[in-house]
Amino acid sequence: MTATMSAGIVPGGVGAPRSEAAGGPRELEARGRPRAMLPPSRLLPADSSTGADLASHLRRHGPLPPRRGARWRAGALEAVADAGLVGRGGAGFPTARKLRSVASQRRRAVVVANGTEGEPASRKDRVLLARAPHLVLDGAVVAAELVGASQVVAVVHPDARSPVDVAVAERRAAGVDTVAIRVVTAAAGFVAGEASAVVNWVANGRPVPVGKNPRMSERGIGRRPTLVQNVETLAHLALVARHGAAWYRAAGTPDEPGTVLVTLLGAVAEPGVYEVEVGTAVSDVLARAGGATEPLQALLVGGYFGTWVPAAGIGARPFSAAGLGAGLGAGLVAALPARVCGIAETARLVRYLASESAGQCGPCVFGLPAIAGAFESLAAGRWAGAGRLDHWLEEIVGRGACGHPDGVAHLARSALDVFADEVADHRSGWCRAPHAAPFLPHLEPRSHPGPRLRTGLQTLQLRQP
Ligand code: SF4
Repeated sequence: MTATMSAGIVPGGVGAPRSEAAGGPRELEARGRPRAMLPPSRLLPADSSTGADLASHLRRHGPLPPRRGARWRAGALEAVADAGLVGRGGAGFPTARKLRSVASQRRRAVVVANGTEGEPASRKDRVLLARAPHLVLDGAVVAAELVGASQVVAVVHPDARSPVDVAVAERRAAGVDTVAIRVVTAAAGFVAGEASAVVNWVANGRPVPVGKNPRMSERGIGRRPTLVQNVETLAHLALVARHGAAWYRAAGTPDEPGTVLVTLLGAVAEPGVYEVEVGTAVSDVLARAGGATEPLQALLVGGYFGTWVPAAGIGARPFSAAGLGAGLGAGLVAALPARVCGIAETARLVRYLASESAGQCGPCVFGLPAIAGAFESLAAGRWAGAGRLDHWLEEIVGRGACGHPDGVAHLARSALDVFADEVADHRSGWCRAPHAAPFLPHLEPRSHPGPRLRTGLQTLQLRQP
């Protein structure tokens, strides 16, 4: 990982949210930059040095309300649906629907709190687990009670293992939980955080996706119905269980209620993890990180499966999927300066993502390396086969056992669209930053493990450019 990311985004460290307490708006004056109104912080405690222990957590949030019986369960599920809570791991699936689907199964379920955070530039789940582990665990326990689970498995990034272990031990000693909580260190790798890969890791020690059948809500860990929910989603669930749907909807927009944790990086003064009310003006979101340090050309919104959004006129737009025309995904926002080549940056990300596939489906084994090669050729000013690239980007969608090829195709398409002028420049042999060092953080591509096709999964033959 590059130095850009190693500085500033550390659980509980520099770049942690600046809100001072749950309560009214605060003002931030960042080194003489314009003031930005800060919404109350719901998830993260005020001071990065305190607040992770059980006593502080209970002082801040109070205990969970009594939870027993079919009436409580029905009311709580209704509240989650009314709140409009959706997953914060990337897919944005409605939480109430997932809960109901698992709750409708006959067998005892298992709940997985997914804190794998395989997205290399994201830090929000680690920061949350380090700063507010009890809020996540409260949410996991509530989820378990809602779906009739007797066990919670918290799968956490290695950096967050220690605070979660401490929190679980505190809860055991205090006897606050109705279900057993087990902590598992997450596997490394981009696809290791995909829901079925997490289940496969816990159940079989293989952190690769297993496809959509059978559904995890029917048969997952130990052949039991399994609910996999991102840790930030569970933290929000814990607050909905305490305060209800109307409280939750008091922040955000009618269609996208609540707050989100955002990892802000790139050309901003103070890269870090910030809690942002959905609908806040983008300029205020950037101001949370001290503002842009130089003229920007685009924001990458949602993560490395995300969407490039042109920077022109973006400041006044609401930070929401509707406002940006881009899903907020895993909460990553990367600010790309005007001096950096968007095509070259995307080529690096596509190569990295191609190398991170599980190597078991045709679109990943054949399609992604071809697309990465095409982007690299384009970045180097040698690519003339735009028609083939378009065709490949269409061909891989919906044909993998998981959404990895679709995510890469989405990123690639967005780059071709938003950096269309640069595409034209490259095709005529000109680049604005021909020798620039990589700007966005990414891990070095792994050498591909080679085709490991499984019987029954589709294959797709693509020619290299
Ligand atoms: S689509 Fe790609 S990442 Fe997903 S399971 Fe298949 S090979 Fe692995």
